[in-house]
Amino acid sequence: MLPKTLQSKLEKELGEGRIKRDEKLALHTSWRIGGLTRFWFEAKNQDELVKAVIMSRKLSLPLFVLGGGTNVLIGDKTFPGLVIKNNSGQIKILGVGGKIVKGERQDSRVLVEADSGVVFNRLVRFTLDEALSNFESFLGQPGSVGGAIYINAHFMKDKKYVGDYVSSVKLLDSNNQVKEVGLDYLQFGYDYSKIQETQDIVLSATFNFTRFVKEKVWERANQTTFYRQTTQPSGYPTAGCTFRNISYAQALFIPTPEYTTSAGYLIDQCGLKGKVIGGAQISDQHANFILNVKNASAQDVLDLINLCKQKVKEKFNIELHEEVVLKGVF
Ligand SMILES: Cc1cc2nc3c(=O)[nH]c(=O)nc-3n(C[C@H](O)[C@H](O)[C@H](O)COP(=O)(O)OP(=O)(O)OC[C@H]3O[C@@H](n4cnc5c(N)ncnc54)[C@H](O)[C@@H]3O)c2cc1C
Repeated sequence: MLPKTLQSKLEKELGEGRIKRDEKLALHTSWRIGGLTRFWFEAKNQDELVKAVIMSRKLSLPLFVLGGGTNVLIGDKTFPGLVIKNNSGQIKILGVGGKIVKGERQDSRVLVEADSGVVFNRLVRFTLDEALSNFESFLGQPGSVGGAIYINAHFMKDKKYVGDYVSSVKLLDSNNQVKEVGLDYLQFGYDYSKIQETQDIVLSATFNFTRFVKEKVWERANQTTFYRQTTQPSGYPTAGCTFRNISYAQALFIPTPEYTTSAGYLIDQCGLKGKVIGGAQISDQHANFILNVKNASAQDVLDLINLCKQKVKEKFNIELHEEVVLKGVF
């Protein structure tokens, strides 16, 4: 008898016809960049996500989970494993913590659970429509819930981090155990969660909210989108900020004007705004954004990244670190 192919082994577990071959990853990233993947699977819910990760690990196939693809630079060469596109999409109000005052219920804390594949902005809009306060600063935030937990997504203008509102996270750990973890495990920091150092896969996250007034929460949230629209470049595919900002101590040491920690400021000072390599360009509006202006390859973007690092090191003696995550094969 012929040995089963990897594809048929995956399909036996995940469903006939559910594994695609040679999917173009550029179709699934906001940069519109990325080579092929040998195998591609779209998980519709948490169970499918868990099964696909476990199966891939059993078969020793290289693996990564893609949320919105808005913070990844995927290499141009074929990825030799399985990419799981996370489309799990449930949002649930879990519980309301309040009290009865003079016969009337006064809700205060409200817990909302979202699958990791939920589009983050959909979750934000859901909470605003439910008159829940805490996510006003995240209206217009691209990506998925899983991606937001991975990087501890933030809105720097308001100094708000997604991790500040996490109550707990359900994940699949490297031993294929599903477990619930809290803030002590996740260790959120600037552009950081513990998940970046483990093989954990986020399945869902539960967030804290406070009941407020619907018109007011929408009003505050709309101010965020206005700020995004007027300060961020638009019109070309991008992954948002390419580099992490520098520390306050580094800003004091240089010193930068008003001690700004903006990586974009340093890149700008190196004269790199508007710099083009191949089809990629450093935005001339916001130097921390790299734009795909003309069929850029991952290598074009990587060359710009390395140029920024080299020039900033020469001029300021500072090492820049990517905020975007490099995946696949370069
Ligand atoms: C125009 C634009 C503006 C942006 N503005 C902001 C901003 O204001 N603030 C901000 O913080 N970011 C911003 N970003 C960056 C990006 O949107 C965030 O980092 C976002 O949280 C990424 O989520 P994602 O689902 O797209 O992650 P992906 O790009 O799909 O993945 C990023 C990393 O997370 C991992 N990952 C994804 N899902 C899971 C999971 N379920 N379990 C484990 N690991 C997982 C991936 O494997 C990968 O390593 C912006 C991006 C763009 C394009």
